[in-house]
Amino acid sequence: MDNKLKPETLCVQAGWNPGKGEPRVLPIYQSTTFKYETSEQMAKLFDLEESGYFYTRLQNPTNDAVAAKIAALEGGVAAMLTSSGQAANFFAFFNICEAGDHIVSATGIYGGTYNLLAVTLKKLGIDCTFVDQDAAEEEIAAAFRPNTKLLFGETISNPGVMVLDIKKFARIAHAQGVPLIVDNTFATPVNCRPFEWGADIVTHSTTKYMDGHATSVGGCIVDSGNFDWNAQAAKYPGLCEPDPSYHGLTYSKAFGKMAFITKATSQLMRDLGSIQSPQNAFLLNLGLETLHLRMPQHCKNALAVAKWLEQNDRVAWVNYPDLEGNKYRDLARKYLPDGSCGVLSFGLKGGRDVAIKFMDNLQLAAIVTHVADARTCVLHPASHTHRQLSDEQLIAAGVAPDLIRLSVGIENAGDIIADIEQALNK
Ligand SMILES: *Cc1c(COP(=O)(O)O)cnc(C)c1O
Repeated sequence: MDNKLKPETLCVQAGWNPGKGEPRVLPIYQSTTFKYETSEQMAKLFDLEESGYFYTRLQNPTNDAVAAKIAALEGGVAAMLTSSGQAANFFAFFNICEAGDHIVSATGIYGGTYNLLAVTLKKLGIDCTFVDQDAAEEEIAAAFRPNTKLLFGETISNPGVMVLDIKKFARIAHAQGVPLIVDNTFATPVNCRPFEWGADIVTHSTTKYMDGHATSVGGCIVDSGNFDWNAQAAKYPGLCEPDPSYHGLTYSKAFGKMAFITKATSQLMRDLGSIQSPQNAFLLNLGLETLHLRMPQHCKNALAVAKWLEQNDRVAWVNYPDLEGNKYRDLARKYLPDGSCGVLSFGLKGGRDVAIKFMDNLQLAAIVTHVADARTCVLHPASHTHRQLSDEQLIAAGVAPDLIRLSVGIENAGDIIADIEQALNK
């Protein structure tokens, strides 16, 4: 579909273009396999000489339609769905890194991605240096080594809601001859399209706003097609040298701008699995059809809640990038002019104990390990996701012991505030 269509139209219509007599609504292709007439036809698919479906671990038409919608929304050339956001980031990294390689990443990222980079990829021989995303360009550039293969950051970090200076990160990455990979989960392409600011590859946990209803865990990788792998051929042998598992085919030569996603699909998905189920892709597509309506409501409600909290005597501090005086206000204005997201954090006077009492008294806002869906929810990291850490360790990890993470939903803002108020009064 025409990429010049506006995001609202792409949310509703992109990806699935039925022909005469075909279902208007994207069908769930609930089939592991696909039928062919001759052995020869199937052989061509296995050799990547022709494109087509043969086994859902590699590709499925429902998944491909949803991936195409997300690619259109991000302004990319190709995309691939994965079983989770974790799988999306792992595949995006592992597609261009192998044992002996190195990654530079922002520090203040999602805990799962931090563990992947700091612990699990290390076991595979891939090292990571973490940098302060707000540091000067020279300081970040100093973390690069000859074997560095990519730079990584999150448009809006989870849970710190720090806004990434994408243009600065792109400049640093490109000066080093590596791509910038940006996790755009919290902003979504409705609020920010990182490719417009120089990012090369975008990843998503579609579990969050894209699904939007907390029904399905999923992920996505989108390629802008802009990074010139051949110009750095020695750095990226996986893309620029023959693949012995495909009779010596070279992805960058055979597929051009589609090389990154084709390799991720035909090699990593083939060998490691992690496909999104077509059922979940169907639900994700339903979520995407209203993403452009939900994001403004999340942002409007979060800003109203943040402003209300800021003026309440019982509240010690509030962190939301769209608040005047927030450290990231200028970056948010630049990269997220229509609003950032629905997630904010705050602390109550009296610290940890008061935070727990407050949360137990909430009625509308549920205590759940989730963010970024239609229902308002809260989490106290010091008691939940980070409960093994002491207060000193919490502070070192950037999670204040009194930090309450609030994911503001799309209910009525007045009702959300009233719930917070009654819980504070108790
Ligand atoms: C949730 C999240 C992930 C992990 O996604 P899952 O779908 O839970 O595997 C990765 N990055 C960010 C920014 C997230 O919020």
